[in-house]
Amino acid sequence: MPTKMFVGSNCLIKNSGLLRKYGKFCLIVTGAHSSKINGSLEDTITALEKEDIKYRIFDEVEENPSLETVERAFQECAGCTVDFIIAVGGGSAIDAAKALSLLFKNNISAREVLTLKNLKGIPLIAIPTTSGTGSETTPYSVLTDHLEQTKKNIGQVIFPEIAFLDARYTINSPFSITAATAVDAFTHLAEGYLNRNANILSDTLAEKGFTLFGECLKPLKDKCLTLEHREKLLLASTIAGMVISQTGTGLPHGMGYPLTYYKKLPHGTANGILYVGYLNVFRNKEKIMKMLGFIGLESIEDLGRIFKDILDCHLTLTEEEIHTYAEQIIANDQKMKNHPEKVTREDILSIYRSVNLYE
Ligand code: NAP
Ligand code: FE
Repeated sequence: MPTKMFVGSNCLIKNSGLLRKYGKFCLIVTGAHSSKINGSLEDTITALEKEDIKYRIFDEVEENPSLETVERAFQECAGCTVDFIIAVGGGSAIDAAKALSLLFKNNISAREVLTLKNLKGIPLIAIPTTSGTGSETTPYSVLTDHLEQTKKNIGQVIFPEIAFLDARYTINSPFSITAATAVDAFTHLAEGYLNRNANILSDTLAEKGFTLFGECLKPLKDKCLTLEHREKLLLASTIAGMVISQTGTGLPHGMGYPLTYYKKLPHGTANGILYVGYLNVFRNKEKIMKMLGFIGLESIEDLGRIFKDILDCHLTLTEEEIHTYAEQIIANDQKMKNHPEKVTREDILSIYRSVNLYE
């Protein structure tokens, strides 16, 4: 994981000198609202002005960003020489910025990033404002493809050059976003740990991440998180990004995409509500019990109860929907290849049926 990381309050402004080497003109990529309120955009502008770097802002990245949005950002900057990008926001802003870095470097369309191989981008700096995706330390960019009515990893390797991790930006995040993103971070740790590609390094990171996540479970249940808890969640999320950089994700990530696309569930919630079903399909539960031990829980049901409490999601899937989504997963080997045991159709159906525990 080649990203250089700076952690702690004010780490961007303290280290603004590092931005100088990336050039004279920066594109800031962000969402419509939150970065203007949580201080992250203001700090980014202050850092750039301090270093005498000109900038332009694209602030139209939506949740689950689409290829069209990436294309529009590129077209709006036609005529500018963008030397580097700073992504400020959650996984959506960072993922859109990753794809955009490829468009600027190669002068291609957004859709071409899906088919061309081994593209490189202009330098990207990531400032996460959610503690969830770990996109600042993964090579992945997940975009919505409306033509195919799904979300997909664009299949390129794009690591940010630098990540600035300042948990103050997450302090005023609404609880629903804090909870869904914390669950996303946990699912990266878990799916990396319970993964065919898991190794001693990824497991060592994941185990530290589980401990940090475990220390935040009670504050999450009580809906009362201090800056210290927020810092732990942000670190857990970044560590989880490092884990999945090595291992990839597991079944819930592939299976959650239809729940986001068709049912409009936030990404972390879509993964989290599949978890009781997912953990129960493992025939060998040894590593699951070890994972729960690091978090400080005794059973899969305990984890399910906590997710039910904090995710506040009420979804019912019909048998027809369950079969439609399951067939999409079964038809795509890529979605099942990281699972360490043989996966049957019945396993996939039972994971989707477990969502109805949340109705
Ligand atoms: P997000 O989609 O980036 O943001 C969700 C919402 O949270 C937006 O409304 C955003 O508002 C708001 N928000 C962000 N930071 C906030 C803050 N500090 N305070 C208050 N509100 C805030 O959420 P995310 O869960 O971080 O990212 C999800 C995306 O990342 C999905 O598309 C998912 O597939 C992808 N993902 C990528 C990876 C990877 O490795 N690349 C891994 C997992 C998931 P604004 O729009 O106003 O900013
Ligand atoms: Fe995720």
